[in-house]
Amino acid sequence: MRFQSKYENLVVTYKPKMTEYLRTGQRAGTTPGMRAEFGGNLHIFDSEVAQRRHRWTDEERIELEKFLIDRSAFNSDYTLAFDQLLPDYIEMWAVERDLSIGANFKRRCAKVWSEDDETINQCKNNVVPGTDLCAEHQPKAAQAGMLSTVSHKE
Ligand SMILES: [Zn+2]
Repeated sequence: MRFQSKYENLVVTYKPKMTEYLRTGQRAGTTPGMRAEFGGNLHIFDSEVAQRRHRWTDEERIELEKFLIDRSAFNSDYTLAFDQLLPDYIEMWAVERDLSIGANFKRRCAKVWSEDDETINQCKNNVVPGTDLCAEHQPKAAQAGMLSTVSHKE
């Protein structure tokens, strides 16, 4: 995911770098830590580029993305890059946590239609996470499926 900061060279630390020492004073090892470093003309932090550079796992990258979104500085010091839409895994997580991220970043329903065969309209609703359509345009079968969340154990 791409995030964009208001400030040049903003650094947000998720896990600090830690160096451990033995009782003898010798260095036992260093944990590199995880940080979001914004850079370039547009003050961008791209979590996938950082993941490749620092060899983070997908889980680690996603943890960092969630951390960035969960902070109060999100939508003030930095926000999502202008062309970054919410990936499903973030949107589902945000829904579960009742976090409001802002409708601008949510994917729009893919339903398009034309009333006059010239202009194309696209539905203005946001998608139901995990699908390409809004609640209103979900296929009927899927709607029924969404309502029956009770699972039966044998
Ligand atoms: Zn729709």
